[in-house]
Amino acid sequence: MKSKEEIIEEMQQVVEQMRLDDIEERPELEYELFDCSCCGQTKSYAGSIQYGEYRLCNDCVLLAETGFALNKIKDVTELINAMEDKRLEEICNFIKQDEQRHNN
Ligand SMILES: [Zn+2]
Repeated sequence: MKSKEEIIEEMQQVVEQMRLDDIEERPELEYELFDCSCCGQTKSYAGSIQYGEYRLCNDCVLLAETGFALNKIKDVTELINAMEDKRLEEICNFIKQDEQRHNN
């Protein structure tokens, strides 16, 4: 039986490896950006994963995979719901930045 720390450490390595594999296969992926369905931030395609209708960035993949491994979540939707507040915050920040741009 692995400890929680061991599982997390293992997941970090696995997910980082996915990112490195992506970059090795298609280096341009690192500079291709998309809006993550989970955290709402603009992230690199490298290391991202499509889960059903959602595409998650490498950071969120780590959260999702760790959540699965630790039986904290059953599917990505749960993680996305848990991130909702954070995502709203991101959107608010974006709007604020936009407002600042317009005011200048
Ligand atoms: Zn994300």
